[in-house]
Amino acid sequence: MDNSIRIFEDVTSLRQQRNVALLEKRLVGLVPTMGALHEGHLALIRQAAKDMHEVYVSIYVNPTQFGLNEDLDKYPKTWDADMEKMIGLNKNLKDTKAKGRITTVFKPTSQVMYPNLPPTSDPNGSGSFVTITPLGSLLEGASRPVFFRGVATVCMKLFNIIQPDYVFFGQKDIQQVLVINRMIQDFHINTQLILCPIVREPDGLAFSSRNVFLGHHRRDLAPALLGALTAARNTFARGARLRDEILGPAHHIMSLVQEANRKLHPSYHIGFEVDYFSLTDPLDMQEVESVGSSRGAILSGALKMLPRSLEYVREDEDTIPVRLIDNILLDADKVLAFIRNRRGDNVVKALS
Ligand code: AMP
Repeated sequence: MDNSIRIFEDVTSLRQQRNVALLEKRLVGLVPTMGALHEGHLALIRQAAKDMHEVYVSIYVNPTQFGLNEDLDKYPKTWDADMEKMIGLNKNLKDTKAKGRITTVFKPTSQVMYPNLPPTSDPNGSGSFVTITPLGSLLEGASRPVFFRGVATVCMKLFNIIQPDYVFFGQKDIQQVLVINRMIQDFHINTQLILCPIVREPDGLAFSSRNVFLGHHRRDLAPALLGALTAARNTFARGARLRDEILGPAHHIMSLVQEANRKLHPSYHIGFEVDYFSLTDPLDMQEVESVGSSRGAILSGALKMLPRSLEYVREDEDTIPVRLIDNILLDADKVLAFIRNRRGDNVVKALS
């Protein structure tokens, strides 16, 4: 099998290739990414290759989803390593039962993606945008007002350019999955979304391109987020159904971590804030007071890891604020049944 990967920066030539796949009735799956590929991304690609003849990976750090004070300029860019990983993955896929492999990488410039007006992060800025409300204004959207407008807009562009039969997204960003799934439904986009499980490091921290900024002090504390969510999930598993009963243990764990942290010598002190622990309905991510028996719930959390005091920092990375998010689906099968597309086909699949 030919392992070569074609790289496209512009729309016309990519579309020509996409049309060939369409004429030959080969399924095309898209894995949208911002690059700095890690095991989480590679798992999405492997999942796509299982059933797709051709996997398209997009690598584009989309400016409009970064707030004005966020880390757009610092976002890691590792193009050569990304290509090496994808070439290596293609080689490994040869030895599996996968139907396809990565055939195409789309690596557009901002001029290509935003052909008329420069991309803006200003909530009131001009341009053509997709907004999905109220879903996109809650939780992550409350802390990052332009985030889901940027995500939905760039995904709409990618879907229009590539016309993928299937799109693959990670459960790590569960609210993003709901926003994109809602966009697919509401705009009648001719694609199907496959939800892939969260891939974690051995200590439980979900892989994320931004983890490289944690530095080892903050990295040591980061798995506490999953620890807190797991405590909440365990309470649910023991029969608790009320919001406060379930979220209480998560807050308790983080306050214990905070207390222990405060007792440390300032040179080891790690500043963090719990942005939220949340228990939401799987359909619209509205907070719920209890978990119903019919639809399960999404348990999610976000931590803001603050920059360490400059006085004590030994590594550059420690000076950048890092946002950590994670989630667990309570009664996952029921949750997925509710996220499922109303067209009735098996649009969102549970793979975890
Ligand atoms: P990003 O490059 O961070 O925009 O992520 C691209 C895709 O990879 C999104 O669908 C993410 O949800 C997914 N992803 C990122 N991290 C993980 C992870 N640890 N496990 C599974 N999927 C992930």
